[in-house]
Amino acid sequence: MPIEEYRHVIMECVSCGLCQSNCPIYKQTNLESNSAKGKMTILYSLLQGWLDWDEIAERMYECTTCKNCTATCLSGLDIAAVVEAARAELVERGHGNAISKDIAKNLRETHNPFGEGSDARERLKELART
Ligand code: SF4
Ligand code: SF4
Repeated sequence: MPIEEYRHVIMECVSCGLCQSNCPIYKQTNLESNSAKGKMTILYSLLQGWLDWDEIAERMYECTTCKNCTATCLSGLDIAAVVEAARAELVERGHGNAISKDIAKNLRETHNPFGEGSDARERLKELART
């Protein structure tokens, strides 16, 4: 679904910041732009035409989609769903994350996110038995 479809969620964020202390990425980076509040502000700026897609890519990929922010948010905003929609549109627009591309390629080719063959699976099974 295009990000435009999530405009109502983005507009519903009142920038109160309650979600910040609960966000693992914010805790790790101390960047407000990495919190749910920051991400909604960035996406609002995108919808307003103040930012371009390539300028928002990094922040959209810095989210675990854990939904801790939703649990804290008084409006229960589903930020992870908005972030996932933004990521899908980033890929469509040619701004996909290089690591995600590699993981998708590995999954298609080897059914393993790291591109490991079945011998690695056997080695792991062996390790689990010891
Ligand atoms: S879903 Fe993303 S923005 Fe929300 S708390 Fe988790 S990492 Fe932070
Ligand atoms: S708690 Fe909800 S309304 Fe407040 S800044 Fe975070 S996402 Fe926006």
